[in-house]
Amino acid sequence: MSQLDLSGASAGNAVVDEIDHDDLCPICRHVLHRPVVTQCNHTLCESCMAEWAEVSVTSQMTIPLDEEPQDFSALNLQAKCPMCRTLTSARRSEEAEERVRERYPEEYNKRDEEYLADEETKDVSVQTLTVYIGNTAKEVRDIGDGRKMYDWEFFVKVSDQSVINEVEVLLHETFKQPRTVKRRAPYSIRREGWGTFTVRANVVLKAGYSWISSDAVDSRYAKRVSLPLEWTLSFEDGGSQARCRLKIKNERRRLR
Ligand SMILES: [Zn+2]
Ligand SMILES: [Zn+2]
Repeated sequence: MSQLDLSGASAGNAVVDEIDHDDLCPICRHVLHRPVVTQCNHTLCESCMAEWAEVSVTSQMTIPLDEEPQDFSALNLQAKCPMCRTLTSARRSEEAEERVRERYPEEYNKRDEEYLADEETKDVSVQTLTVYIGNTAKEVRDIGDGRKMYDWEFFVKVSDQSVINEVEVLLHETFKQPRTVKRRAPYSIRREGWGTFTVRANVVLKAGYSWISSDAVDSRYAKRVSLPLEWTLSFEDGGSQARCRLKIKNERRRLR
């Protein structure tokens, strides 16, 4: 062994006091735990990604009207990377996990234990939610000048209604009653009209929940509790809808 090989001298130490920069999570500053790697090539703990990656509301995509709300895995989520804010998804990295497990077995086991204990008692949990926003439309009659009257229904559907407090729907101000608050599903309203316009909907969560999105708005009592969404009515082909995949945080203490 070369006399200059100083790193070799401390390798036998039971306590790892120096962790390689690449093996540290840039968010929690601990040894990576269940590491995930993003498309922008950032490596971080799975739980750090789940908690800190923000979902952009503008990442919604138009999909067929007959798709129903369903849950999905947090890892398939398109979200803003907490490090560089690029819209990305993440995948588990077995190479990184093997490397840190091998290099820092004690640290890693400690993190595993903390993780499991945390799962049982933690008071913050992150949940994913699929939200559909859209409208159906049925032609009812011709009203002349090439215009047609439509019977349309605007809706917001969510994969878990138990977290929703209310959905506020705001129509064009020329409507008689432009504001409607729906306290239970279906969160939809039906009207007749010939012109399309942009409907606004504020999806408000129950107490203890908040949206993990910088698009969310605070109320007097809670932070990031209301998520403003917009939808431009579409009368062609019977209507259309878009899907957004979002994340919420629950800060209520779980029962042990
Ligand atoms: Zn971390
Ligand atoms: Zn990144």
